[in-house]
Amino acid sequence: MKILFDDRFYNSDYANDGASVPGRMESIMEVIGKERDFEIVCPRSADEMEVLLAHTPHYVDSVKPDRRLYDMALLAAGSAIMAADIAFYGEPAFACLRPPGHHASRNSSWDYCVFCNMGIALLTLKQQKKIQSAFVLDFDAHTGDGTKDVLADWEDCHILNPYSDNSGDYLKEIQNVVKKIPAVDIVGICAGFDSYEKDAGRKLSTADFYMIGDMMKRFSKRAANGRRFAILEGGYFLPDLGKNVLAFCHGFM
Ligand SMILES: [Zn+2]
Repeated sequence: MKILFDDRFYNSDYANDGASVPGRMESIMEVIGKERDFEIVCPRSADEMEVLLAHTPHYVDSVKPDRRLYDMALLAAGSAIMAADIAFYGEPAFACLRPPGHHASRNSSWDYCVFCNMGIALLTLKQQKKIQSAFVLDFDAHTGDGTKDVLADWEDCHILNPYSDNSGDYLKEIQNVVKKIPAVDIVGICAGFDSYEKDAGRKLSTADFYMIGDMMKRFSKRAANGRRFAILEGGYFLPDLGKNVLAFCHGFM
């Protein structure tokens, strides 16, 4: 399994919010980086044309004056595109990126998000005629309103934001939805670890993240030729963030 990561993601001065806090990416990469199962791959930045698949010119222009933020957001979007492309060619991938993107709509964004990384990745593959359908699971504690907005016109793109409050129901909810999906071209995961029991969402355990990864691996093998990738969204309880990402990746690989 490939991990998309660039040392520039360690820079925390591109913004001043929960996703950009110093030490956040370190808390993940210190755990992931020690694992021999993963190959770290350096991502490229997205170009403006790719970002414009998901956003209006007016919105993209509104981000540009903040050059550090803009450059970081392009790198995040490029990482998501590469993760999706690696998945398309048959290997699972996880993009460890920031700023996150699931609250970025076509013409606006909020709460630490800048560009809709998942939307840009899937729309890029769709434009290249590699895929015609997709399934997105967003297990962040917060609903991915931006991803839903960006992908709203795509009839064959199914998006699930589970709402159940306890972990048993949450896992069952995912299972019940995916078992009704016969086939899709790719499975994309908005991996938000703030649904952790010690983070804002207060519901999922480390073992649950493994279970979700495993469920999505099985689902993608049955329905999507194994094509699957995940990208980082939220996750702010730094003492356990690395082990939660690792648990998900172990289930997913
Ligand atoms: Zn969140």
